[in-house]
Amino acid sequence: MFDLSTPIEQLYLVGPARAKLLKNLGIHTLEDLLFYFPRGHHDLSKFSRIGELKLGETANVKVKILESKTFRTKVRRLTITQALVEDESGSILCVWFNQPYLAKVFHPREEFIFSGKVVASKNKLQLQNPIYEPVRDEQVHTSRLVPLYGLTANLTQKQLRSIIKLYLDKVPIPEYLPALILKSENLLGETAAVRQFHFPADYAALNSAQTRLAFDEIFQTQLRVLRYKKSREQNRGIVIPLDPGLDQKIESLPFKLTLSQKEALAEIIEDYQRPYPANRLLEGDVGSGKTIVAALTMWLAAQNGLQTALLCPTEVLASQHYANLLKLFLNDGLDVAILTSSQAKLNGNPVSRPTVLAAIQNGKSKIVIGTHALLEPQIRFKTLSVIVIDEQHRFGVQQRSWLKHDSPAHLLTMSATPIPRTLALTLYGDLDISILKELPAGRQKILTKIVSEQNRAKAYEFIAKQIEAGRQAFVICPLIEESDKLEVKSATAEYKKLAADVFPQLRIGLLHGKLKPVEKEQVMQKFKDNELQILVSTSVIEVGVDIANATVMMIEGSERFGLAQLHQFRGRVGRSDHKSYCFLFSNDPEAEKNPRLKALVENSNGFELAEKDLAIRGGGDLYGTQQSGYDFKIATLSNLDLVQRSRRYAQALINEDLTLNSHPLLKQKIDRAPAVHLE
Ligand code: ADP
Ligand code: MG
Repeated sequence: MFDLSTPIEQLYLVGPARAKLLKNLGIHTLEDLLFYFPRGHHDLSKFSRIGELKLGETANVKVKILESKTFRTKVRRLTITQALVEDESGSILCVWFNQPYLAKVFHPREEFIFSGKVVASKNKLQLQNPIYEPVRDEQVHTSRLVPLYGLTANLTQKQLRSIIKLYLDKVPIPEYLPALILKSENLLGETAAVRQFHFPADYAALNSAQTRLAFDEIFQTQLRVLRYKKSREQNRGIVIPLDPGLDQKIESLPFKLTLSQKEALAEIIEDYQRPYPANRLLEGDVGSGKTIVAALTMWLAAQNGLQTALLCPTEVLASQHYANLLKLFLNDGLDVAILTSSQAKLNGNPVSRPTVLAAIQNGKSKIVIGTHALLEPQIRFKTLSVIVIDEQHRFGVQQRSWLKHDSPAHLLTMSATPIPRTLALTLYGDLDISILKELPAGRQKILTKIVSEQNRAKAYEFIAKQIEAGRQAFVICPLIEESDKLEVKSATAEYKKLAADVFPQLRIGLLHGKLKPVEKEQVMQKFKDNELQILVSTSVIEVGVDIANATVMMIEGSERFGLAQLHQFRGRVGRSDHKSYCFLFSNDPEAEKNPRLKALVENSNGFELAEKDLAIRGGGDLYGTQQSGYDFKIATLSNLDLVQRSRRYAQALINEDLTLNSHPLLKQKIDRAPAVHLE
């Protein structure tokens, strides 16, 4: 007999060759097979009448065979099967190529369902290569909502569908949800849901199946997250005591902290004094001043003799943070180190990588900044007390899971991507959130304009004037997704054009992903020092780059970028009290009407833009699975209501019984899958 754990090799209809194909799809057991859900359904539920078929349509007909024959053509040696079929409205010829076994399939007077494309041959309509099913069988491949699966080479829809159908009907799936939840949520039972999701009776059934399975996914995630939260609270964290010098440190800054910054700082510092590891997201729009908040908490840890690490998604950002923190901690006598795949420095001096590794390991370096190079396993800290992750949405799940090994360190993640609170709870579990609501005082609105080709010269004139007044400008080159090489080429061409023809009198630099890290750093340093007045760049400067003196952001091919990206680019200017400008160029003569560009012109707030983005994309993937790193197959996270309800059930269950021992099936499911990713 079969059960869900039966390996697929042992299934009827699956030989060794086919088992290998199924494994390519991640299907190893019968359970995997039954939970291999279709990507969509082909609606073949309605029949057409032969007399009313139209050229080009894909039609579904219920017919009686009149006659059939199979023969080989002389010229191209093709095997052709023909069947003349009829319904009450007329007759039509069906044709198949190179399927000689069909000779034995069709017999006069038998009834079949055919589904295929209507084509014309010699001025007459015919059905070419239709799929067929005898009317006497239950319909699996035709005359219903037919499931369409993700395939692999040498496996057809029909084969996979037949295997799944066979076992769906044979093997019941045990119900693991507590009856109370099933009832109050009015959910379909597990077996019915899985069956109906593959082979729905109609759209309503498909819908209920989807609802049930989406609930499963979210509910299980919530349970894992909450159970993890409970167990983490039993972990010992590193307590970081207050330091009376902190107020003085804040006083010594060249600016006054905003109210939000002060509040966030207080919240984070309070976390650090609890005996278990904190996990907080610091959310704030581009330019709201997240870095200094994190830096002050790193300073506090260092005063207590503890190490902290700041993780950045790009080298450009890592070296910028390094330069800033070096300056910020200049008079504190703290060792500050940077480690990326290309550089290692200690207190501003280039040193060998082993030297930096040693300083990290023996605890001498208190502040360590780096890219994912910091994630390598050979890097050991002595007393790592805080991990700060900048632009956390740019890190993959894989990289985030670095933070897993029972680290007692507090976690502080930073992002400009607004995530609703409920959703954050689902995705990251026990996440606390601090929000920087306002920008630092004195910031003016960035004037954003869509500029037509005719006005290009005027825009250049404007840039020249800004530079004359001492300011600087960015020029972003269009995104070329298919090829880094082409992108570099176009950026280089743009750079040459500007340097030779447009601004021969100005100092211009070029930045792109193919430069060596040292070269990138040199270019950025020169721009920072105003030795370069214009920086031509690809999207590598998208996040984090902070050059307060830059006031013009000019974006070429702006229609190619996403709204969040455009907002990030724009956020590179407007970082001082100088008035700043963002010019959007486009190859599209209709750019004025582009909803994304219009939204950018009309909104300056990242949270509002995120909502616009959602509206424009019609509930797309803004908060979707890609960003979350969760592999939801059915659920969409935009259903916040469902997220919230399932969280309540999960919380109640965990409160009642943390071990889940009273729900063994449920426990089994929760134990099997990985724990929360961001740990
Ligand atoms: P983001 O939140 O986008 O990471 P940054 O931390 O890079 O923003 O800060 C943007 C700029 O604002 C930096 O140059 C920083 O020094 C400056 N800044 C931060 N806080 C304040 C403040 N309270 N007043 C004035 N300028 C500030
Ligand atoms: Mg930043």
